[in-house]
This record gives sequence, structure tokens and C-alpha cells, in this order.
Amino acid sequence: MSPAPIASTSVSPAPGKTHSGHAGHGFSTKAIHIGSEPSEETGAVIPAISLSTTFKQKSVGDFKYEYSRSANPTRDSLERALAALEGGRFGLAFASGSSVTATIVSALPPKSHIVSVNDVYGGTYRYFTKVATLAQGIETTFAELANADTQLVEQNLRKAMRSDTKLVWIESPTNPTLRLIDIPFVVKIAKSINPETTVVVDSTFLSPWYQNPLSLGADIVAHSITKYINGHSDVVMGALVTNSSAWVEKLKFLQNSIGAVPSAFDSWLALRGIKTLAVRMQEHGSSALIIAKALTQHPAVKDVIYPGLPSHPSFQLAQRQIAPKAFEKAVARGTAKGDGIEANGFPYGGMVTIRLASDARDEQAANKVLERLQIFTLAESLGGVESLVEQPSKMTHAAVSQEDRDLLGIGHNLIRISVGLEDVEDLLADLDQAFRAAGLA
Ligand SMILES: *Cc1c(COP(=O)(O)O)cnc(C)c1O
Repeated sequence: MSPAPIASTSVSPAPGKTHSGHAGHGFSTKAIHIGSEPSEETGAVIPAISLSTTFKQKSVGDFKYEYSRSANPTRDSLERALAALEGGRFGLAFASGSSVTATIVSALPPKSHIVSVNDVYGGTYRYFTKVATLAQGIETTFAELANADTQLVEQNLRKAMRSDTKLVWIESPTNPTLRLIDIPFVVKIAKSINPETTVVVDSTFLSPWYQNPLSLGADIVAHSITKYINGHSDVVMGALVTNSSAWVEKLKFLQNSIGAVPSAFDSWLALRGIKTLAVRMQEHGSSALIIAKALTQHPAVKDVIYPGLPSHPSFQLAQRQIAPKAFEKAVARGTAKGDGIEANGFPYGGMVTIRLASDARDEQAANKVLERLQIFTLAESLGGVESLVEQPSKMTHAAVSQEDRDLLGIGHNLIRISVGLEDVEDLLADLDQAFRAAGLA
């Protein structure tokens, strides 16, 4: 056997090729079986953690695996599962979500131009402005793309794009104010300006259960696996999925050359997490909807931001953009109630953002609530089984200037909630007692 061509062993093959047994199967069937085929050697139903860094060659150049940075059997299993969940051909796993960003940007020619959504993840902003600029002379224009007014979005995008724009970077929903971007619309405009533009969607907040950007026209979908995909707050990892063989060839080369790859053990943990992704996401979503609705009625809360609530400015877009299977399951489970959706909303991820009734400039009120919560943990990050809360103005978004925070609506009374899988009654009671103890209700 000659050295592995790119799409045969080290990069997840086309679903039609090796996953043919699962064509037409649902999300969870794929999540549980693709990448976890019983071992031909031992019959083990769960893939082994393949710790070996190097592999014996039958004769020089005759090997399936060569060296674990280039490709590793456990990572391969994970990458195949990830590709299947996003409905894409190729999956690549990285040591963190941030290294996914770094690797994609490294593939751009020097002095390229990027257009990015303005309230992009802080680490992505930092990479574009502090690293890509210095290392590659890359310039980034941050544009307001999350607006219900599509004419304004088109105007902003046309103004931001240049003849040297190589990449449009989208994150939807945005963080922490959960604004939505019309992905097919942005893709359409960007490609009409220049068909060569690559559109990347960081889909971390929704996971492959609620959103599949490749089916919405994106070229690459990026994830921080650290959040929902692994889902247990015990692995830092990232991934990307694409259908483009030109892109995967470049990115696979950089994955090996830069070397920001996950360990076999972490790959195994993430693969374990993936098997329950659909059930976890449905529960995160239904509890988030219950909490969002309940807090709308609470005197301690001024605003509730949840894209599955009819009061959200992009509620209609959320219905168009949600992965169909997530919507159908929600209707079947009764968490989205047929004609009642316009009144009752539907589950759309596990993140809920609120503004307390306290003044946006009052730095202390939110902290009084946060330190009194007993079940919610005051911590950064999101997407784990345990509920987390944080104050973006002082924590995840402290590095954003006061002026930009004001523009984005990130006052000191804004609290971001990652709704976990505890009993939702307990979560509601915990929030209520903390609001009272803080004197807000
Ligand atoms: C956490 C996060 C990242 C970065 O991922 P890491 O795994 O922490 O490196 C990127 N984008 C979004 C939206 C995130 O939430």
C-alpha cells in the first residue's frame, strides 16, 4: 500500500463510501454508530484509545497509520462521527476551538482580508486583530450582520467586502446577546460579490443538533467541542467540517504541520459525549425554553433573550434556520406545540441571556444574584451538563471596550445562563431565591 491518499484513511471519507449502511439514518443512530463500529479484531463495541504515537510499516511507505500527529485511529473515529453529524464529507479535530480558527486563518494568503461579524467570540476577535495581523498581515473588518433588517445587512456586507476579501466569518447566535444571522442570505450576498469567498460559521452555541451550516450554504462549519459536543466540561477541543476537498486538503496539511491536534484520550471522551448529543441538546433546549418563559414573568428580570421565544426579533429566522430534525422532534415531544409555536415558542439551544431589573451601570447587583445561586455555578464556558452563569461585562467580555459593550447592549445587569441538565424546577427555584436574596424581587 502506498502512503494514504488524503481522503482514504486520515480524513473522514464521503458518507456514501463507508457510511452507506447509515444513509438515511437519523442523527442519533449516526452519532452512536459512525466511528464506533465494533472492532474486527476483538469485537469491542467501543473504539480503543489508541495511545501509540507511531505505527509499524510493513515495508517502507506501506502503512495505514504513520505517526499520531498526522492521523490516529481514535481521532479518525471522532472525525468521521463529526462529519456525519454535520452532514459533511470531511471532519478534522483540533486541540481547541481556538486552534480551529488559527488553522483556517493560516490557510489564507498573506495580507488577505477577512469580514467578521462584529460581536464574534472574544478569542476569535483576539486572533484576528492581535495574531493574524502580525503573523500574516491580515486585515479584518467587523460588520454588523445580525440584524432583522436584511437591507441593512446587505449594505453592511457590501461596504465591508473588498476585492481581497477571502473569508467571511459568521457566528450565530452571537455571544452573549444571542442575535441571529441569516446564514443563507449572507452566503448569497458574499458569493454574489465574489464567488470565491469562503464562508465559515462558528456553530458552537447550537451544536450540530440545532444547526447545520453546510446545509445553509456555508463552506466550513467550526466548533468548540469544549462546549456542547463533548458536553461534560472535561475536554478542551475543536473541530471543523467541510464538503470542499480543496479546503480539506489545505487544512489537513496545516493540521499536521501546525500540530494542534487533540490527544487520543480526549478524542475518545468527545466521541463518548457525541453519542448523547441529541438527547442532551433536546433537554438543554426544553429547559432553556421553560426558564426563558418563566423569567419573562419575573419582576427581577427586565429582558429575556432567547431566539426560540416569540418576543425575540429573529424568532421567524430561528424557525427558518433551525435544523429540521430538531424542530420536528420538538413538535413530536410537545416542547414546540404545533400552531401554538407563535405563542409558546420552541427550543433553540440551551443558552438564555437576561437583563436584571437593576440599572445597567450598577456593577454590584448582578454579582449579588450570582454569588447567591446554589445550583448554578458562577463560571465561564457553557454547554456542560451542569448549569453555569456568568456576568459578561466583568468576565467573558471584560476586554471589550465600554463603548463597544454599550453598542452591543452588554450592561452590568446582563447575565448569561448556560442551562444544564438538572431538574428544571430546581433551577427555577434557585434563580428565584437568588433574585430575592439580592433584593430584586
Ligand atoms: C469557546 C468558544 C470558542 C473557542 O473554543 P476553545 O475550545 O475554548 O478554544 C470559539 N467560539 C465560540 C463561540 C466559543 O464559545
